[in-house]
Amino acid sequence: MWNVLAAHDSQNPRQVLLCAHWDTRPTADEEDDPAERRRPIIGANDGASGVAILLEIANALRVSPPPAGVRFVLFDGEDYGPGSDRMYLGAKHYASMLPEPNPEWGVLLDLVGDRDLQIWRERNSEDQAPEVNDRLFGAAREAGHGAVFPDDVRWTITDDHLPLLEAGVPVVDLIDFDYPHWHTLEDTPDKCSPESLRAVGETVLHALYSA
Ligand SMILES: [Zn+2]
Repeated sequence: MWNVLAAHDSQNPRQVLLCAHWDTRPTADEEDDPAERRRPIIGANDGASGVAILLEIANALRVSPPPAGVRFVLFDGEDYGPGSDRMYLGAKHYASMLPEPNPEWGVLLDLVGDRDLQIWRERNSEDQAPEVNDRLFGAAREAGHGAVFPDDVRWTITDDHLPLLEAGVPVVDLIDFDYPHWHTLEDTPDKCSPESLRAVGETVLHALYSA
């Protein structure tokens, strides 16, 4: 397995971490038909949505650099499974060999492309990095995307942010877990929308530029 790493302004003493997972679930566990359950998912939303936003953010940073350096990490093995003992593999590995200096803050994007997008403050993120949630939900309001980011806590999610939080990186998970196509063969691009990707991308960019 491979994590994909990229850096913008790597010598800057101030760093921000932006991450997502680029693998997709090798088994469509949520399908009803056992034969279908053995097939891999496309993962348009569960995986690719976060990667798409980070690639476009990287383009934006090249045109207009933010005050802090940005580390991009695309994790492998987030959804490998089948059990949670064989998930979050790339994030656990990255958390065990963190480069210096520690990022001031970070964001994990997962399931952020849903057509009907609503991103709430995730419970583990809110407990361990509330100031990062404040920064992002404030940025969402200022960027005009407050309707996509209801400012209240919903969902408690085990995801790639947990090994990072444990290693001392204040990173929050932006995720819309209310997605009926999760871990099915129906997680395809038509369930996603460019407006949703834009709302999340502009929110993260706004937070980066006002850091
Ligand atoms: Zn998944």
